[in-house]
Amino acid sequence: MRTLPPPDQAQWLLSFDFDGTLHDPAAQPPVIPEFFEAIQWLRAEKQALWGINTGRSMEHLVQGLIESRFTILPDFAIVREREIFLPNAVGRFVGVKTWNEACDRDIAKLLKKSKRLLKKIRDVVEEHTGAQWIEQPGEPAGIISRTEDEMAWIIEQVHLIVPPDSALGWQRNSIYLRFGHKDYQKGSSLTAVGMIFGIGAEGICAMGDSHNDLAMLDDTVASRIACPSNAVDDVKQHVAAQGGFLCTKPCSAGVFEGLAHFFG
Ligand SMILES: [Mg+2]
Repeated sequence: MRTLPPPDQAQWLLSFDFDGTLHDPAAQPPVIPEFFEAIQWLRAEKQALWGINTGRSMEHLVQGLIESRFTILPDFAIVREREIFLPNAVGRFVGVKTWNEACDRDIAKLLKKSKRLLKKIRDVVEEHTGAQWIEQPGEPAGIISRTEDEMAWIIEQVHLIVPPDSALGWQRNSIYLRFGHKDYQKGSSLTAVGMIFGIGAEGICAMGDSHNDLAMLDDTVASRIACPSNAVDDVKQHVAAQGGFLCTKPCSAGVFEGLAHFFG
């Protein structure tokens, strides 16, 4: 798998969430072939770069690209909502050292500083819910709930416990929650990718379906935003409020529809 030949002068940066936006595990194939045709057309006609912006780890994303039979390698990948990777000449993803190291360092420092807050949250979660607290290498603080409703309740408690001026942030994707730093999420990471390629918000298009996409579905990050029809209600409301495009089709068919709306 290779990237498309680079454009002479990149004009657009397209950022897609993976699960539930491009990838539909219930569909065969999981990503419609028309999506890849659209990406090739956008490269040739609009000088567009494209990438995946996901909560998955790099390893898990590569697995997903292979399973979904991606025919073109993305020009960038943002994983765990915050780490930036670019493919090298032989198609291997290499981390952007300065950004990823600053991100690791700032998050480790903040989580250490927020120990008391996290303990408080953990106690509430373990006392009142059946959710599981996650603490492991590479995933220092996270929660997996049993249901979406349970996670919604947990988020309410997190809001009550964490003072608004704290830098402690969290990313929710369905029943999964990951604690981190407010400065490192899909939006700030996408802006950082834009800076690497010399493209600002006016040249960025972002599409996503879940809560962890909200940060990139924002007009300060991307001038063109959309969500597939299967997006959660909070995302649909947010996209509508920002003057974005609500696709009528789910997953990659919706993405294709969104690209045609913006660039067709
Ligand atoms: Mg998603």
